[in-house]
Amino acid sequence: MASRRGSSSVTLPTGHTLAYTRTSEVDDLPHATKKKMADHLRRFETMFTMTPQRMRMIVEAFKDSLELGLSKSGQVPMIPTYVFGWPSGEETGEFLAVDLGGTNLRVCLVKLNGGGKFEITQAKYRLTEEQKQEDGEKLFDFCGKCLKAFTDSIVESGELSKDRILPLGFTFSYPCSQEKIDHGTLIRWTKGFGAPNTEGRDVVEMFRNSLSQHDVPAEVVALTCDTTGTLIASHYVNPDTKIACIFGTGCNAAYMERVRDIPKIAHLGIDPEAEMAINCEWGAFDSFEHEHLPRTKYDITIDETSNKPGEQAFEKLISGRYLGEILRLIICELIDEGVVFLGQNTYKIEIPYSFDTAFLSLMESDPTDELLMVIGIFSHFFALETTLAERQFFRALARLVGRRAARLSACGIAAIVSKMGYLEEGCSVGADGSLYNKYPGFADRIHEGLQDIFGEKGRNIVTHHAEDGSGIGSAIVAAMTKLRKDQGLYSNL
Ligand code: ADP
Ligand code: MG
Repeated sequence: MASRRGSSSVTLPTGHTLAYTRTSEVDDLPHATKKKMADHLRRFETMFTMTPQRMRMIVEAFKDSLELGLSKSGQVPMIPTYVFGWPSGEETGEFLAVDLGGTNLRVCLVKLNGGGKFEITQAKYRLTEEQKQEDGEKLFDFCGKCLKAFTDSIVESGELSKDRILPLGFTFSYPCSQEKIDHGTLIRWTKGFGAPNTEGRDVVEMFRNSLSQHDVPAEVVALTCDTTGTLIASHYVNPDTKIACIFGTGCNAAYMERVRDIPKIAHLGIDPEAEMAINCEWGAFDSFEHEHLPRTKYDITIDETSNKPGEQAFEKLISGRYLGEILRLIICELIDEGVVFLGQNTYKIEIPYSFDTAFLSLMESDPTDELLMVIGIFSHFFALETTLAERQFFRALARLVGRRAARLSACGIAAIVSKMGYLEEGCSVGADGSLYNKYPGFADRIHEGLQDIFGEKGRNIVTHHAEDGSGIGSAIVAAMTKLRKDQGLYSNL
């Protein structure tokens, strides 16, 4: 087939620029025929497509799980956050915010100016895979060191006066059980973390120890997760926001609940009319029985070979850490069956987790007829040659995997909407994370899913790019907590 474009260049997520020039056709290798690829595609379409009917069943089961989690500890943890109600938008002051994310450690100086306005200065430190697995004390020691370097730098630049101690909001986005806002026992690591000697311990205490060891001028006021922070930050700027979701390395949601509807904290004696943000930790949905989610054999392999088998079933079908791996497992199966890459050296693509979810984004957004981006990904990162039929097939697979993730996400959002009765009045959903922000069409597919579930009224639920939860949100939570405690309101919580 004649090509309209002879060459092209693309910029990859690693920052590499990749130039491709058409030189020769690759039909000297034994590639699968177009027809064969189409037959395979049909098989995967059946496996990865979810009907509206199926989605509604998932929503119902999800709703039950949310309610169970609020009444006792169920599989969806539904963690009370001790963030009481919405911010007024008039919170002010200077705060530090630290986010121990799935990929980076981020530290910020946040100035809240009131009127929904703020300023932020930040630094990011990359976390290595080793750091995620080494002793928890060491991991927190690294946080202390980075924070010290950051506070030194803002003292030097004059942004922070010497000897001033700043209130700090700590964003720690792994499921913790909290008895009060400045305390949290890690239930279990997620998102590929496995640092020993941390599960079952109070991470605020570990964090405080590292701060005092490094003489960091900060006082930890509140522990939050990125999702709760996103809920609060998005509402600070856009008061229509009622739900927040994260689609990054992991996935999660938070919303505001009436205290009277959280039976498991009845013993705390909080005014039943008060409101409290709930961190759903919804990634755990359906992890016990595996009776609701449409898991394929690839999903089961991911689960069984993960460092946490049997956990985070919902997250493993949706989040950035896993989507690339799902596609990679499918490709590896086709290699084993002799369908693709016959006669080529496939060792690179056989390395677990070598296929980043960002590649799915790039494949789906490839604007060229010849799929030059897809050529680039396979040849540059995996030393594999592809035919156009194969590239179209891989792109179609990426679409199936990405679409399923978005539609399952819609099921989770629909469960909260339905539980809280937000459908008629409508609501705004603040969403963040690289998957939501960078995967082409992810938001549209969520919206389409919501309409499949709710019909026309599904249009009342709209997601939008959220405000920065782990920086701004965490600072606002620290501000709200300081205000609350200064007023003597539930100061023990
Ligand atoms: P974190 O979860 O640490 O807060 P992010 O929100 O940036 O970080 O999410 C990181 C995840 O997003 C990784 O799993 C990565 O594979 C995925 N990702 C990064 N870039 C893209 C992209 N362009 N498209 C889709 N997924 C991406
Ligand atoms: Mg994040």
